[in-house]
Amino acid sequence: MTLAAPPRPVLTHTLGFPRMGAARELKFALERHWRGEIDADALQAVGAELRARHWQVQRDAGLGLVTVGDFAYYDHVANHIQLLGCEPARFGFGPKAPELARYFALARGTTGHDPAVCGAGCAHGHAAPEGHAALEMTKWFDTNYHYLVPELHADTQFHLASERLFDEVREAQALGHAVKAQLVGPLTFLWLSKDKGDAPFDRLALLERLLPVYAQILARLKDLGVQWVQIDEPILGLELPAAWSQAFEPAYWQLGKAGPQVLLATYFSPLQDHLRLACQLPVAGLHVDAVRAPEELTGVADWLPGYKLLSVGIVDGRNVWRTDPDAALALLAPVAAKHPGPLWLAPSCSLLHVPQSLAGEDRLDDELRSWLAFAEEKLQELALLAALLDGSAQQSDPRLAAARAAIASRRASARVHRADVARRLAEAPAGADQRRAPFAARRLVQRTRLALPLLPTTTIGSFPQTAQIRAARAAHRRGELSTQDYEAQMRAEIEDVVRRQEALGLDVLVHGEAERNDMVEYFGEQLAGFAFTAGGWVQSYGSRCVKPPILYGDVARDAPMTVAWTQYAQSLTDRPMKGMLTGPVTILQWSFVRDDQPRSRTCEQIAWAIRDEVVDLEKAGIAVVQIDEPAIREGLPLRRAHWQQYLAWATRAFRIAASGVGNGTQIHTHMCYSEFNDILPAIASMDADVITIETSRSHMELLTAFGDWHYPNEIGPGVYDIHSPRVPGVDEMLALLRRAAEVVPVQHLWVNPDCGLKTRAWPETEAALRHMVQAAAQLRAEL
Ligand code: GLN
Ligand code: ZN
Repeated sequence: MTLAAPPRPVLTHTLGFPRMGAARELKFALERHWRGEIDADALQAVGAELRARHWQVQRDAGLGLVTVGDFAYYDHVANHIQLLGCEPARFGFGPKAPELARYFALARGTTGHDPAVCGAGCAHGHAAPEGHAALEMTKWFDTNYHYLVPELHADTQFHLASERLFDEVREAQALGHAVKAQLVGPLTFLWLSKDKGDAPFDRLALLERLLPVYAQILARLKDLGVQWVQIDEPILGLELPAAWSQAFEPAYWQLGKAGPQVLLATYFSPLQDHLRLACQLPVAGLHVDAVRAPEELTGVADWLPGYKLLSVGIVDGRNVWRTDPDAALALLAPVAAKHPGPLWLAPSCSLLHVPQSLAGEDRLDDELRSWLAFAEEKLQELALLAALLDGSAQQSDPRLAAARAAIASRRASARVHRADVARRLAEAPAGADQRRAPFAARRLVQRTRLALPLLPTTTIGSFPQTAQIRAARAAHRRGELSTQDYEAQMRAEIEDVVRRQEALGLDVLVHGEAERNDMVEYFGEQLAGFAFTAGGWVQSYGSRCVKPPILYGDVARDAPMTVAWTQYAQSLTDRPMKGMLTGPVTILQWSFVRDDQPRSRTCEQIAWAIRDEVVDLEKAGIAVVQIDEPAIREGLPLRRAHWQQYLAWATRAFRIAASGVGNGTQIHTHMCYSEFNDILPAIASMDADVITIETSRSHMELLTAFGDWHYPNEIGPGVYDIHSPRVPGVDEMLALLRRAAEVVPVQHLWVNPDCGLKTRAWPETEAALRHMVQAAAQLRAEL
């Protein structure tokens, strides 16, 4: 390949770096602080240490600037709530409440009067003696990271209220780093906020009040000698109402001049109709996501004025694969040739969404590890690409040879490509995703076979994961408990769970999932194509991290995964035992998945593997199988225009998994998340015989949508919230059931909790289920 070597050096930077620390130091420090074991100073010392270390990693990787402002003790949006002085008044903080204590009160809520945040003589003790609920949490765009939702009212005022960002800038400067500060942009901040006023109002109307505070922040950064500030406006990748799109230009006229040079950062989604707008905003530079939207790069080079800085997000910030250097250079070279202004390279988005480092990943074999790049390795990749692009590295560079070898080995590996899997997908008969008969006909067969009462009662799958169960699993993993003893203990657990359910009088039983660590990991560990890291943690929210499996190859189920446990559970009772599986979309969503084929294809492979399991459960005499799909909604693409396509393959994958069985086998599905009013037809097209959903917290509001829409199949709206130990009374559940019976034909109704019970303890679980069974019996008697 010939590269038109541009006459200027190519700089590298990152939009953000993981905060937790390679050994999750921040998580452990936070939890110790919350337990009162270390004070705020000790926690902040850990924070400072991590920032220093992470800036040094950036500097060592040759980044032109280190990023400051991406660190957070809980969440970066929460940082902005304090920076912009818009903590909700409902918390009633005392004037002397320390910033960090208020921060954790916002993030975690308070229980009762809290002298740490209320201060002396506050009005709070009597205004809300029961304490304050935390801010709501929701997913950051289409990631598995959750941010704290700012609460705004029509009369919310903003003011510069925190020194945290400036302190951190000074901290980095004192360490000798050149700094790029990072902020969430004003429009994205308002967009992600929630209108909490009594009367609805237009959040955009607050922009006028918000911008002067941003201008002030920028001026302060300039005073500190900061040359660049990265302002993130990922909402430019969404479909926006015209008023919002139109607000960008005047807003950035105000901000572009207020302080350091502004690099406007967009990511996660193609810009499409906002591409010209993004290029022409009155700021010094633009960052674009060339992983999610490589096809837009030429357009960006065309529209971006020649004098502006272009930052190309060339390394995938959302996934764990090593970058193909030749593909990256092929994409970059024409842009470098076309764009005369400064060129920077970066990950596509913040590296918050990938694990920190491959060092110490000894659970992975060498070959597999050579295919991967976590945050630190991604910075190295950027350095190499930049050097190749500006001519400071040669084609003979050994780093390039190593990268090429890894890419070639992954491409050709028999571990990745299995002929039997490819054949199976290619030869799938038409109609493989359809049950044999329509729901009405299946229903008759199932009713006779299962002989269930009206308003059958069941649970969602898991029962309390007691300390004893977790200890046994840990001991087994460490090799201290033999497989035989471990399995004996799990069988005893299952027997106990079955007896308790029989005593409670539940109609369809479950085995309780004692043997499962996690609903995705458990299956991933038994399927071909998955690998597991030792320390590949990613922040989910606050101190909470997840360790997603790495789905690297064709998926197949080479042996049954749950049949023996389920069959054993069924052998203990005459009542129907519900088999329990995780659905293909959820397994896909909660893993790092391969980037060498469409997600839809990977999902279809998982679907066939799950189908094999469903069929084997049926053969083993199991009459009811639940396929959980709690993640189906969160897989929706950011742009509505892409929803139909996603829903088509996602629901098809579910149907493939569910349709290998006869009419007499009853397929359930479960989704915990509310808010699927807008995708009800797709949910119905999954054609599960029974769907259980979370509704108790919304007082059956969600169910009303199902009712209004005449959802065709059976439905189990959750009648109690499993997220708290509170035991609702019979009357409370009965009232919910009556409401449900008003909107859904009573012959279609099931009675169950909102979700699985694994996080609960036994006493409240049994008490609540007893009330639930009573409520069902009472309603039955009334009918
Ligand atoms: N069957 C799972 C359980 O009961 C479902 C969990 C979920 O919906 N997230 O735990
Ligand atoms: Zn659930």
